[in-house]
Parts: sequence; C-alpha cells; structure tokens
Amino acid sequence: MSALAQPTVLIVEDESSQVELLKFNFEKAGYATRVAMDGEEGLLQAEEHSPDLIILDWMLPELSGIEVCRQLKRAESTKTIPVLMLTARGEESDRVRGLDTGADDFVVKPYSVKELLARARAMIRRSNPISSGEVVTYGDIKLDSDQRKVFRDGKLLKLGPTEFRLLGVFISRPGRVWSRDQLLERVWAHDLDIDLRTVDVHVGRLRKALKLPGKHDPIRTVRAAGYSLDFDV
Ligand code: CA
Repeated sequence: MSALAQPTVLIVEDESSQVELLKFNFEKAGYATRVAMDGEEGLLQAEEHSPDLIILDWMLPELSGIEVCRQLKRAESTKTIPVLMLTARGEESDRVRGLDTGADDFVVKPYSVKELLARARAMIRRSNPISSGEVVTYGDIKLDSDQRKVFRDGKLLKLGPTEFRLLGVFISRPGRVWSRDQLLERVWAHDLDIDLRTVDVHVGRLRKALKLPGKHDPIRTVRAAGYSLDFDV
C-alpha cells in the first residue's frame, strides 16, 4: 500500500453477518470501509464519499442491487466508481443482466474471501492507479507515487506532502468535481481539527506549484461545489 490515502470500499449489504465478514476482511487488507444497509443509503454514501470501490449485494430490500447499480452508473458523480456485485444466483442470464446494468464485475455467493479481495484489488488498481503505487499521467502532469515525485512538462515540481496527496486524489479522476468535504476526508483522513479553509489553502499551494510559464492552470474552481483537475475547459 502506498503512503497515499487508503482506498475506501463502500459495502452495500443488508445482512449484518455478511457486512461484518466483508468489513473485517477489507480492513485487514488495508482498506477503509463504509457500510450502507440499503440501496438508498448506498446511493447517498457513494455520492457523498466517492469510494474507490462499491461492493453491492444483488438482494437488497426495496431498491434492488440492480437498480442501485443502474442509478450509480447513470449519475455523473458516481459513474466512474467500479461496482462489484454479489449475488446468490449463479444463473448465466442474471450475470449478463447484472453486467448490462453496468456492474464491473460479479462474484457469486458463497464466495471465497481471498478471491473477492483479489478481484477488488484489481478493480481498484484499474480505476485508481494512485493507490497501487503506479505512475499516472494526465495531460502534461505525471505523478509517480512510489518515488513521490510530480513532473509537469518533464520538469520536477516541488510539492509538499499534503499537495502531493491532493494531486493524487485529483488525478485519480480527472474532470470530477470534489467538494471541500470530500477532499478533507480523502487527504486529511479523519482529522477533525482541520477546517474547510485549510482545503482552500492547500489547493492554492498546489495550483501555484503546478504553474509553469505559458502553461494552463489545470485546477478548476467550481463555485459552490469545489475543485477539479481539468484541462478540458
Ligand atoms: Ca442481501
């Protein structure tokens, strides 16, 4: 696991024994977890916390896993979050139906925890290379999380550790708008003494660090919403 913020897994499941099993194993493997006991709550948490992966049970009361998945994949703010569906049904047609709704992968209950973790890890790595210690580029920005170095246009930039983590969050989903609360949670983990203006200060520092003569400012301030890393504006 790299020194960047722990990846977060959102578990959407109504059976507490299953929740406990998943929570225990993901935390043991180094992930932060959040739990939603029904679909509505799952959608809310996905929107609010933007997890790195969603483990979604097919069989949920009221809003089904399939419907939750459909809504997650329709919404701009959650559509890039990978979804791994859990199902008790092994029918091929259900599997296909699940993948049709946009689920990224499928695991049939009863599953092997080891296999589930391996799949989860692969999904997180694909969607969020930052948490797996790889080199990520966006436009002319290159972030090497193993070496903790950032380059722009081939030039090594000077970034403090907080700015580095901040850029890590931004570059994992370019174009996505992050609220101050979300950044606070991702970058400062759960340090409650930090206030929202601190986020603005560090975003300002990151912006300054990324500024090279003749180069676009890639950090976009979205009024009343937050910030994003975005060259397409
Ligand atoms: Ca269930």
